[in-house]
Amino acid sequence: MVKAVVGANWGDEGKGKITDMLSEKADIIVRFQGGANAGHTIVNNYGKFALHTLPSGVFYDHTTSVIGNGVALNIPALFNEINEICEKDVPTPKILVSDRAQIVMPYHILFDQYEEERLGGKSFGSTKSGIAPFYSDKYAKIGFQVSELFDEETLKDKVERVCELKNVLLEHMYHKPKLQAEELLATLHEYREMVAPYVADVSLFLDKAMKAGKTILLEGQLGTLKDPDHGIYPMVTSSSTLASYGAIGAGIPPYEIKEIITVVKAYSSAVGAGAFVSEIFGDEANELRMRGGDGGEFGATTGRPRRMGWFDCVASKYGCRLQGTTDVAFTVLDVLGYLDEIPVCIGYEVDGAVTTDFPVTVKLEKAKPVLKVLEGWKEDIRGIKEYEQLPEKCRTYIEFVEEQIGYPITMISNGPKRSDIIYRNSPLKKAES
Ligand code: GDP
Repeated sequence: MVKAVVGANWGDEGKGKITDMLSEKADIIVRFQGGANAGHTIVNNYGKFALHTLPSGVFYDHTTSVIGNGVALNIPALFNEINEICEKDVPTPKILVSDRAQIVMPYHILFDQYEEERLGGKSFGSTKSGIAPFYSDKYAKIGFQVSELFDEETLKDKVERVCELKNVLLEHMYHKPKLQAEELLATLHEYREMVAPYVADVSLFLDKAMKAGKTILLEGQLGTLKDPDHGIYPMVTSSSTLASYGAIGAGIPPYEIKEIITVVKAYSSAVGAGAFVSEIFGDEANELRMRGGDGGEFGATTGRPRRMGWFDCVASKYGCRLQGTTDVAFTVLDVLGYLDEIPVCIGYEVDGAVTTDFPVTVKLEKAKPVLKVLEGWKEDIRGIKEYEQLPEKCRTYIEFVEEQIGYPITMISNGPKRSDIIYRNSPLKKAES
């Protein structure tokens, strides 16, 4: 049984918390895309953790954590994370790294920085983790696969070729120091030592696990709107954030993914540049930012303040559709308890016409939000366990959102802890089955 946990929005929806929670009943948790550029924040019995590379199920001793072939693998970052969790007395995790995963090289991180510098005010707002240069090289077929670390001849030869190519850009385009082949080779030897105990044929491992009836969770990073094909291109990430890519990035058949749990946040936040139709500013935004998430809406990797906005039904409906949602986990709802009134974006006005279908980026840039104002419930809803015990106005908010997006809200997260979850029988779910 394979389930995917993915985001409908711009990322930071709370996927980490939902994955951590669902991991209790899972055997294997797989990261299938992205790298150390975004983070999940997880609060559990061992403390508070910001994970960037390890899957969120790493805190249970019955689970195996897998880094799939689709991931941008930053080997030193992975090892720092393993050490950090071991220092906080989490049981030593079982970790497998795909022999087909590719490696984020030190020069990918440098090129990311140099390119953002060169673009100046027109930069993408990259986290400078080397992700875009990494995926560019993967598809240009000059990336380094983990398996290649173990073939000295291939490695030496490739290092020389890649240095030759990169040095032209470093010297003439960026005017920065050139790469030294011997130094790079030595770094890769260190990486080999670090990763060797974990390397495995992951797709074969998963195939056997599926045949043995194990439960596998695929954990996505970021959300639909950051997908390079279906998101707000070019202000997107460089690997697909969709559940369907989980099949590729883990190496399993697409029909094995039976449940797609799309995490949708009760208000909007985004990092980096790009159109953000329901964005709010000033004091209104500051207040939501300070109260948001668990201790404020600030980047888990960079610490930078996130951009804030009201809930966007247009973007979330689209986000859920592209994921192939079977269940919506509606998160961070407790945060909205301070508001007298809660505006919700129910349509986009583009060139004088209102639409509820999410447009391509050039049109999105021109969209203005059509807002509907719902009444706030003015109560702290943390600690509530039953749907019927939520204040009526809070249920109205949930049911309004569900109707607008058209996908069943079956989980409501009302706090950052594993236990802060309310299960709900959605009428949309019943109609479906
Ligand atoms: P992810 O990348 O999708 O996993 O999201 P992040 O971890 O970056 O952001 C989610 C933040 O919200 C984290 O600080 C979580 O601890 C916190 N969080 C998750 N669910 C809830 C919730 O229901 N309520 C509150 N208040 N915080 C939550």
